[in-house]
Amino acid sequence: MTQFSSDNPARAHRFSLANDGSGLEELSGWRAYPRVQQPTWPDEQELATVFDALRAAPPLVFAGEVDVLRSRIAAAASGEAFLLAGGDCAETFADATADRISAKIRTILQMAAVLTYGASVPVVKMGRMAGQYAKPRSSDEETRDGITLPTYRGDAVNSFEFTQESRRPDPQRLWRMYTTSAHTLNLLRAFTGGGFADLREVHSWNRGFAATPAYKRFERLAEEIDKAIRFMDAIGADFDALKVVEFYSSHEALLLDYEEALARIDSRTGEVYGCSGHFLWIGERTRQLDGAHVDFMSRLRNPIGVKLGPTATVDDALALIDRLDPDREPGRLTFVTRMGADRIRDRLPALVEGVRDAGARVAWMTDPMHGNTITSSNGYKTRRFDAILDEVVGFFEVHRELGTVPAGLHMELTGDDVTEVLGGTDHIDEAALEKRYETLVDPRLNHQQSLELAFLVAEMIAATSPSRPS
Ligand code: PEP
Ligand code: MN
Repeated sequence: MTQFSSDNPARAHRFSLANDGSGLEELSGWRAYPRVQQPTWPDEQELATVFDALRAAPPLVFAGEVDVLRSRIAAAASGEAFLLAGGDCAETFADATADRISAKIRTILQMAAVLTYGASVPVVKMGRMAGQYAKPRSSDEETRDGITLPTYRGDAVNSFEFTQESRRPDPQRLWRMYTTSAHTLNLLRAFTGGGFADLREVHSWNRGFAATPAYKRFERLAEEIDKAIRFMDAIGADFDALKVVEFYSSHEALLLDYEEALARIDSRTGEVYGCSGHFLWIGERTRQLDGAHVDFMSRLRNPIGVKLGPTATVDDALALIDRLDPDREPGRLTFVTRMGADRIRDRLPALVEGVRDAGARVAWMTDPMHGNTITSSNGYKTRRFDAILDEVVGFFEVHRELGTVPAGLHMELTGDDVTEVLGGTDHIDEAALEKRYETLVDPRLNHQQSLELAFLVAEMIAATSPSRPS
């Protein structure tokens, strides 16, 4: 969701959609392919009713915004910008409150401010927000004390509570996903367009963070940024213009019924856009070349991400490029690697080289979360801060060695003071996990850990990237 300046490209776009959805028939081609990770909806008729309601509802994002984001990602792929995506593993309806949403936006803006300074390029801000309500799961069922129920697949599908009724997939939840995404986007657009994102304000929050005793080591970087802002002020930079920032929404396009229902045709060009969010990605578990997700996403005009885990081969990557980015269009395709800290230095180089040598121009992002998930001795699904940081460092090292571009970071984080990830300067230990472990799926960096990571990465980029254009 972007606040555009006067030449708002979104204005040039009108979506056409007859009530019967005509023009979008081809989009349902995915239904002929094997589909994985889809709920078994108990009532197909109810699903069809919700589908029709979603299809008749206004789009959540607009083609012009999506096109601008594609151009921003193209800039990141060539080193002229840097992507920062962050948010919950799984958003929940209950947590779509003003306080929690604003804390998340604030955290991402704070991280972006330091990364902008470190990288000396614009940071493209994306929330894993306003649509991240569906989760792929390793098992269809969960057993507790001898009782087996369908697994929790995210608030878009069922409820976390372990009862027969709660775990039953309910298509009405797709409607709630739409309305909750709309509420979240509304707040996001208001915050990022209404002064909340003022760089001076964001920097003063960061100064507060860097001045706390535990994070004293970042004070120097905060002072440098301070100096840069005073310099901008002195030369007459228009800070009022900087109050308005572009901020995009992204989520895993997992539930294809929902994604299809929210696709719209841009009447200017006749092209099809997924209008549930600006950037949509295919997960590690749903990227089968001959599967429904790849087919569906190949038909959309949005910038698309694909997660690549440690088993991904160069051939997999090249075949995905052929399916999803046959024209080799800059900004169209982003590979989000999630290898694990202990594997990234082994696995990433061949992929990056293979893709580069084939002439494809994808953006490479690192997701340092999903390859580093462990279980603590007291039974929590967690991650170590150091492993997360190490995967980011490895990602930059690999690209530096190859002379290729590390285009961005994809993080699971929250703006709240949860205790879900081990370590960081606050030394969250296994016992502390019990204090405030709130995630329903994967552990997130809390507010402090997110900022700490951003400062560490900014320091590293500033110290080691002579090749970045300044
Ligand atoms: C996720 O991003 O929450 C996720 C499930 O990731 P992956 O597809 O990489 O496992
Ligand atoms: Mn996750």
